[in-house]
Amino acid sequence: MALIVKKFGGSSVATPDKMRAIVRRVLKDMKEEDKIVLVVSAMGDTTDELVSLAGQITSKPYGREMDMLLSTGEQISIALMAMAFKEAGRKSVSFTGAQAGIVTSDAFNKGRILEINAQRVINALDEGNIVIVAGFQGMTDGGDITTLGRGGSDTTAVAVAGAIHADACEIYTDVDGIYTSDPRVVPDAKKMEEITYGEMLEMAKLGAGVMQPRAVEMGSRFNVPIHVRSTFAETEGTMIQEDYSMEVKQYLIRGVAEDKNVAKVTVLGVPNKPGHAYRIFAELADRNIDVDMIVQSVRVANEGVTDITFTVSRDDSALVCDVLGDIRRDMDIEDILIDEKMGKVSVVGAGMAGHPGIAASMFGLMGDNGINIEIISTSEISITCLIGEEHVDKAVRAIHAHFFDQD
Ligand code: ADP
Ligand code: ASP
Ligand code: MG
Repeated sequence: MALIVKKFGGSSVATPDKMRAIVRRVLKDMKEEDKIVLVVSAMGDTTDELVSLAGQITSKPYGREMDMLLSTGEQISIALMAMAFKEAGRKSVSFTGAQAGIVTSDAFNKGRILEINAQRVINALDEGNIVIVAGFQGMTDGGDITTLGRGGSDTTAVAVAGAIHADACEIYTDVDGIYTSDPRVVPDAKKMEEITYGEMLEMAKLGAGVMQPRAVEMGSRFNVPIHVRSTFAETEGTMIQEDYSMEVKQYLIRGVAEDKNVAKVTVLGVPNKPGHAYRIFAELADRNIDVDMIVQSVRVANEGVTDITFTVSRDDSALVCDVLGDIRRDMDIEDILIDEKMGKVSVVGAGMAGHPGIAASMFGLMGDNGINIEIISTSEISITCLIGEEHVDKAVRAIHAHFFDQD
């Protein structure tokens, strides 16, 4: 008997026909005694459509009501999927995130899964049901619905797999695995058989939208190997796991990631005194805003003030405006500038440590292509350049060609 969690993303459940195809495949692939939990996303572009609907009412970030709205997308999918299994003659039951026992923090739009009380899911499996769980959502201790951030159904799937000690967690999507770069941008990108949690987490954080970063973190924490594979083809996908299981060629660079959802915030003329940077970033952290690259520069002509530049996800720029607007007068800040048309390009690879030539090659490629680098940041296994959004695809293709085409 195998206990398997299978997650199907939005494009996989976009139509009733696609849902029926999933039912046929799940039933064909499983043995009679297997126990299956399906985690599903909202159908097709439903979540984007709900975001746009809210945008027609308000531009303010009403977190609680937004989650009330966004969670409805997944609720449609679970009900229809359970009906589709019943139509095929199988017992099936659908659960919202709350019904599946998923408890989150109270950070609306970015809830973190704190615990999963999985008994109801386990009982339903024991009763012979195919259990369908809504991805991307949970509930706070206080009873409010939360969502887990875009792409959050991945995290639901891996967390549920960890909670019920599943034998496998399979992420079915519209690509047949993890590639060295987004195959929609780089047609020559190469599919990987395996990637480590560490490298995948870095790729995901730096924009590779195929997995939500927190899902990879959960996989690593609960030691759940994740198999990313295609909904539409039978081929093997990519295993995300602790270490490489076979002799892989020593890659310096494992992948090239891009992120076009970046806003650059510049806080001009912050008094150059102790405690001021703290105040800005503490207020942002209080509102759960993830701040990324940070640069502080002292003005040569006026050492009394400093300028602080940082990046955030573009989805947070309205919230950043709110927060900084509130403290601006109080702190005597000159001005706040937000540039929403930024992007990031990154190279990722555990093998790059101790190879300084990689950074030089990357910057050289930017120069050759006439692309200005605004900020550079590095970690042990990645190098990232902040550039204009319009240059991102070109930069990714040039970097990928340089590092991978000679293989
Ligand atoms: P789902 O709706 O199934 O969750 P997503 O759209 O969230 O699917 O993720 C799949 C998409 O991720 C692919 O269509 C692909 O364009 C994109 N992607 C970005 N980077 C990569 C990568 N390195 N490898 C594979 N796919 C990637
Ligand atoms: N439906 C949500 C989104 O579009 C969650 C997901 O698909 O993972 O972001
Ligand atoms: Mg996704």
